[in-house]
Amino acid sequence: MNACPIRPERQQLIRALFDEYIEMYAARDDRLTGRFSENFSGYAGSSNVLVKNRDEWVKITRQDFAQVAGRIRIEMLDLSMQDLSEDIVAVTAFFHIHLPIPDNILSRETARLVLVFRLEGRDWKIVHSGISIPYHAALDGEIYPIQALCERNRALGTLVEERTRALAAANHKLELLSNTDGLTGIANRRSFDHMLAQEWGRAQRAGTTLSLIMLDVDNFKHYNDYYGHLTGDDCLRTLAGAMAKAGQRAGELAARYGGEEFVVLLPNTDRDDALEAAYRLQHAVWALALPHAETAPGIVTFSLGVASLQPSPEHIPEDLVRLADAALYHAKRSGRNCVQSATGSLVGQAAQKSVGEPG
Ligand code: GH3
Ligand code: MG
Ligand code: MG
Repeated sequence: MNACPIRPERQQLIRALFDEYIEMYAARDDRLTGRFSENFSGYAGSSNVLVKNRDEWVKITRQDFAQVAGRIRIEMLDLSMQDLSEDIVAVTAFFHIHLPIPDNILSRETARLVLVFRLEGRDWKIVHSGISIPYHAALDGEIYPIQALCERNRALGTLVEERTRALAAANHKLELLSNTDGLTGIANRRSFDHMLAQEWGRAQRAGTTLSLIMLDVDNFKHYNDYYGHLTGDDCLRTLAGAMAKAGQRAGELAARYGGEEFVVLLPNTDRDDALEAAYRLQHAVWALALPHAETAPGIVTFSLGVASLQPSPEHIPEDLVRLADAALYHAKRSGRNCVQSATGSLVGQAAQKSVGEPG
């Protein structure tokens, strides 16, 4: 059946009544409740119970306005008007509701509203409102399912917190692992490079001396050949443990440089103190008295190279490593199991100093 075309002035009237209703509803304007007829009936979205009492409907509307007090946005999808008689008009509308909360709850659900207005005396009153919104999740006393939403957000927040904590712990562990030598458990080369750059900058700013001891196990190839590679590993672990224990100065870092070579970085330490630290290390290793049948002293020994520099713009951190390496080379050339030191900027001019042998 085709509906009769609506006269333009009636169309305007129906549209104005509807627009006024929607504006008051969206703005949460309490004056809306004054528009309900004494003969009101309506279906609320959260139930299929027909409410026939105007006061009951006013209560429902106030609950709605109280639950979401801020202005809501109605996104109109379709609207059709019916001119039913001189004193009765109706509108059917389909729309999305956008609540002023940071969630798209309902915003993709299509709501349908049927409004019937009746002329009562001089005023058009709302005699019927049938709103249908999928409020399935709404709890008692709620118009919109916001409690469930808050609960879900809380649970998500807790989950995010837990995951963030676990991630931070995992990152911390990873950071430790990536800076630790797998065999010996002391700092690795990566960690040493990082610390060297850091301490270099600090010493340059403070105008202090930075020292480095480079240690290399003597005749370790023979050790492996004689005792086996696994015993060689044990030996490196024991040596690393002794070096870590021998550290006495704040900021001192013992690291495995690679293979059977170790380094000890000594911030704010001059040459004499660095030499003293080197002798201490040497003695600590002698005290271990790890048997080494293939070497003259009969125990595992180190050759040690000591370098000291006051960082300046003409130098780079690698210069300190080069100096210590050169001093170590001299220690090896001097018969091993001894300490040599180098100072200054040029490796070729490195000062050398031998110390006594064990026993
Ligand atoms: P020098 O006194 O001149 O230092 O003689 P060296 O035999 O110690 O020196 P060389 O560089 O010839 O040999 C180093 C040895 O260290 C060879 C290598 O197998 C051993 N090595 C390096 N890393 C490890 C390791 O992780 N475990 C074991 N068991 N041996 C290692
Ligand atoms: Mg070596
Ligand atoms: Mg060696």
